[in-house]
Amino acid sequence: MERLSGHEVVIAGGGPTGLMLAGELALAGIDVAIVERLAGQRLAGSRAGGLHARTIEVLDQRGIASRFLAAGKAMQVAGFSGIRLDISDFPTRHNYGLALWQKHSERILAGWVSELGVPVYREREVTGFTQDGTGVGVELSGGQSLRADFLVGCDGGRSLIRRAAGIDFPGWDPSVSSLLAEVELSEEPEWGIRRDGNGTHALSKLGDGKRAGVVVSERYAGQTGEPTLGDLSRALIAVWGTDYGVHSPAWISRFTDMTRQAASYRKGCVLLAGDAAHVHYPVGGQGLNLGVQDAVNLGWKLAQVVNGTAAESLLDTYHAERHPVAARVLRATMAQIVLTRSDPRVDALRDTMSELLSMDEPRKRIAAMMSGLDVHYDLGDGHPLLGRRMPDLDLVTAGGPLRVFTLLHDARPVLLNLAEPGALDITPWADRVRLTDATYAGHWELPVLGEVAAPAAVLIRPDGYVAWVGDGQCLGLPDALTTWFGAPAAA
Ligand SMILES: Cc1cc2nc3c(=O)[nH]c(=O)nc-3n(C[C@H](O)[C@H](O)[C@H](O)COP(=O)(O)OP(=O)(O)OC[C@H]3O[C@@H](n4cnc5c(N)ncnc54)[C@H](O)[C@@H]3O)c2cc1C
Repeated sequence: MERLSGHEVVIAGGGPTGLMLAGELALAGIDVAIVERLAGQRLAGSRAGGLHARTIEVLDQRGIASRFLAAGKAMQVAGFSGIRLDISDFPTRHNYGLALWQKHSERILAGWVSELGVPVYREREVTGFTQDGTGVGVELSGGQSLRADFLVGCDGGRSLIRRAAGIDFPGWDPSVSSLLAEVELSEEPEWGIRRDGNGTHALSKLGDGKRAGVVVSERYAGQTGEPTLGDLSRALIAVWGTDYGVHSPAWISRFTDMTRQAASYRKGCVLLAGDAAHVHYPVGGQGLNLGVQDAVNLGWKLAQVVNGTAAESLLDTYHAERHPVAARVLRATMAQIVLTRSDPRVDALRDTMSELLSMDEPRKRIAAMMSGLDVHYDLGDGHPLLGRRMPDLDLVTAGGPLRVFTLLHDARPVLLNLAEPGALDITPWADRVRLTDATYAGHWELPVLGEVAAPAAVLIRPDGYVAWVGDGQCLGLPDALTTWFGAPAAA
């Protein structure tokens, strides 16, 4: 077996999750490489249609949101099984989502990762691995191997890493199977959406007017293997009574509502993120968003463990924080699948849900969940900011005006002192944590919760979540700094 050079972290899979994680690790100075079986950053077919507000915020925290905003169309994308949820009154700079096809999101992420100098071993597949006490031996197709301290499986729903690690993937088998395709039709079809007891189906005219986008559910959910033109024709006939002379497919793909989640996101030196850790039906559009946010939660923690700043136990907080977030998405997705169908009872339920979601409080709660803005990591009792996303406030510092998110561009922790300048001293952590004195005159408002009391200081993790809130004293600050960013440096 030919031994290629080693890396501190090897990521299997260069989809959105793997790319985001690679960027986070590279920013933290970690030697990271991606192994990707595809030759280029090209997706056959169409997958994610956009980004939710929290993902745009997360990208803004790294200073790259503008690249995505320039390529897509900002609009209200949040919804619950197609019931639109407007978030334009939410207290965030990004009170909208972004319509942007996954291939463009991946292209932009790949460009960022390349600027950060991350090597990508393309057209190579991870075929297996072995763990020993000191790390992982990663086996690649073509008889090559790589050595790493940690291996992260970002290799999608059929994750080889998850299976080879022996991590259980409990959940539910599919009840719906859908075909997605770009085709030509010989006859003018009935464009638009149709619902029946099997799901929601749509025929849409594509840019050139000659081609059509199709999404149609199949009668039988247990299909396996590559979908064919015959499968598509049968599914069209079952819904519209004709296949409109479907021919010349550019691509056909199949997805189901199989709903499963890894029982553990870590086994020794092997971790899982993104679809490798959780799969669900695309309704609600959250899979890619979840994966990117898994990566942002894991990146700085893994970096600190690799560079020896923090104990390995910090990695346990990755599962503890992200597993419940995905479990909630899986649950909400299963509820939405019911509403994609149509019969008199489901229609009555949909009408009831629509009515409920037109009321302010339910709209805000569900929209905050769907847009990812209400994520709350359980960091104990205390100020409502604890464990929640830090708002992107307009600060004033000695150096001039400054946005909070700008302070997070290099993915390092920040202690924001909003009381008397010089009131906080964190000399033993000064090599790891940036202390910024600032003032902020406005309100503190969180999605759903509304206005909260202004804190005197906040400790912000690199992922943008608040790890400690100060009320004018340093009570608990050394503990929070030690928990998240390692033991104090010796004097
Ligand atoms: C029809 C459809 C619509 C969707 N719409 C949305 C949406 O609107 N919003 C949303 O957020 N999500 C949506 N999703 C989900 C989204 O596409 C996925 O959640 C997202 O792609 C997951 O990213 P990932 O990087 O975790 O995995 P993937 O995108 O699956 O990437 C995995 C990568 O790993 C590579 N790989 C696999 N095995 C190996 C191996 N052994 N060695 C090396 N490389 C390997 C693959 O080639 C691939 O590049 C949709 C999905 C579908 C099917």
